[in-house]
Amino acid sequence: MTPMIAKLAWVCLAVGWYALRIPHDRRSKKTPVAFNAMDTSERTRLMISITGLGIFPFLYVIFGFPAVARRDFSVPLSWLGIAIAIAALVMFHLTHKALGRNWSVSLQMRQDHKLITDGVYRTIRHPMYTAFWLMAIAQALLLPNWVGGLSGIIGFGALYLLRVRAEEEMMVATFGEEYRAYMTRTGRLIPKLF
Ligand code: SAH
Repeated sequence: MTPMIAKLAWVCLAVGWYALRIPHDRRSKKTPVAFNAMDTSERTRLMISITGLGIFPFLYVIFGFPAVARRDFSVPLSWLGIAIAIAALVMFHLTHKALGRNWSVSLQMRQDHKLITDGVYRTIRHPMYTAFWLMAIAQALLLPNWVGGLSGIIGFGALYLLRVRAEEEMMVATFGEEYRAYMTRTGRLIPKLF
């Protein structure tokens, strides 16, 4: 394990993430929207998240920027990062498979939107956000730079904290008691087993 391999692992994670999303992006453009909560604050949240998960780590991987923020490279942390990156990609795939045509990149409800409560949605109600947290943690472990590494946790963390309540309110407004009951039997990011 070398810093170069760890950087390459991050590139594979980013490219894999992007590639997994392509078919869903295409389908989502063809699926009619019934309600759209895309506004300036949602756009800002998305920008912050992309900056942290994409732009800063990219600048570090390509240019070593910012050099002053370099941290020691750790072999065990890099291996752990690879394992978490694989888990993130698997989870990301499973959530897209389960949501199908109901998925949107932002807060939207589709026409004939169905509440999904099975597969990875059975015990967790935001498993795609779990996948994003795993991705952000993998980035922090793989990139030995305080800025390029930690920016994912800060960027996605901001999106998550500023969005999750609004998303749940939108789901309650659409599905009412059905979503409230679903909330009581699921965890937000980790399974509620009992
Ligand atoms: N928060 C979820 C989904 C993220 S994608 C997760 O982390 O897995 C965001 C869109 O998914 C939202 O706009 C909403 O329309 C839709 N969505 C969220 N939870 C859903 C569910 N259980 N069933 C169907 N659609 C859902």
